[in-house]
Amino acid sequence: MKAIQYRRIGAEPELVEIPTPEPGPGEILLEITAAGVCHSDAFIMGLPEEQYTFGLPLTLGHEGAGRVAAVGAGVEGLDVGTDVLVYGPWGCGQCWHCSQGMENYCSRAADLNILPPGLGAPGAIAEYMVVDSPRHVVPIGDLDPVTAVPLTDAGLTPYHAIKRSLGKLRPGSTAVVIGTGGLGHVAIQLLRHLSPARVVALDVSEDKLEFARSIGAHEAVLSDSNAAAKVRTITGPAGAALVLDLVGMQPTLDLSMAIAGVGSDVAIVGLGDGQAAAQVGFFRGAYEVNVAVPYWGARNELIELVDMAHQGVFDIAIERFALEDGVEAYRRLAAGTLRGRAVITP
Ligand code: NAD
Ligand code: ZN
Ligand code: ZN
Repeated sequence: MKAIQYRRIGAEPELVEIPTPEPGPGEILLEITAAGVCHSDAFIMGLPEEQYTFGLPLTLGHEGAGRVAAVGAGVEGLDVGTDVLVYGPWGCGQCWHCSQGMENYCSRAADLNILPPGLGAPGAIAEYMVVDSPRHVVPIGDLDPVTAVPLTDAGLTPYHAIKRSLGKLRPGSTAVVIGTGGLGHVAIQLLRHLSPARVVALDVSEDKLEFARSIGAHEAVLSDSNAAAKVRTITGPAGAALVLDLVGMQPTLDLSMAIAGVGSDVAIVGLGDGQAAAQVGFFRGAYEVNVAVPYWGARNELIELVDMAHQGVFDIAIERFALEDGVEAYRRLAAGTLRGRAVITP
């Protein structure tokens, strides 16, 4: 089968021909219908050799949708032909966090060497992939897999980050989204659907700001050295109740802390350069700001997103690429010229 693999540190990913996998006992074989391209892929491919821990060659793609092509011995209750999304942050299924659905925080994954698809295990940017357990697929019924697949990460990650702060998003409050790409454009829509907050979006070009307004941001502001002052004129002295930093570079973390209001939440979701840090302490911003670094989301939250998609909540923006053009999708991601999510359709 064809797949897009990262094969050499520092090199571009490549379209390759590899053996089609077979599902072992308890596993599922999916014929991939759609796979999303996430900025985290670019992050890991930018790591130097001594920090790269995901194995080579690596079949990319941690956002996957597919049709069940075969099931391994012992898999029951999942029919061949069912259309599903892949829940990517695989865990053991047994520890306390996994029992809450939060396999993203599995306490045994490291010990058991359980790795997410596309981030250690073979991923979804291929004609077929193996999912390790029926726990890790969510049926989507008649949803279009191409627009549904970004829900698995571009939707799930901001949903998890927003859900923990919903109690703070009352009428008159402000939620700020920094970075209106794959994750950000779903975050804006989730905030509009789930809360009465005023939504302020930031990005680095007028195009992206126009895009943010078109999908529901009340205000859109250029993310430059004047951004904190501009956001402050919108929020007034109360500041923001929630800041989602979907970039995570030092300037955006500093901006996040500068606009966060008393008792607000700052969620650092973007990986940035992997080095940046939020400055917390006396005389460094508002009192009682809670700073969190959330990772991906829970299984039940993916099910909730699929439910919202069935209700027609989302207008997911995608740019579609054939598997043969998958490398080009990564170039466009790196160049920052995508609108919404790049989705590869084998
Ligand atoms: P993306 O490339 O689709 O979007 C990034 C957006 O940020 C772009 O619109 C870009 O123009 C904008 N941007 C860049 N610099 C900016 C700045 N200084 N100020 C404002 N906007 C700026 O990326 P994505 O796939 O949406 O991922 C966003 C980030 O989230 C990445 O760092 C990714 O690695 C990370 N991520 C984290 C998790 C997690 O679990 N924590 C999950 C998925 C992605
Ligand atoms: Zn991702
Ligand atoms: Zn676990």
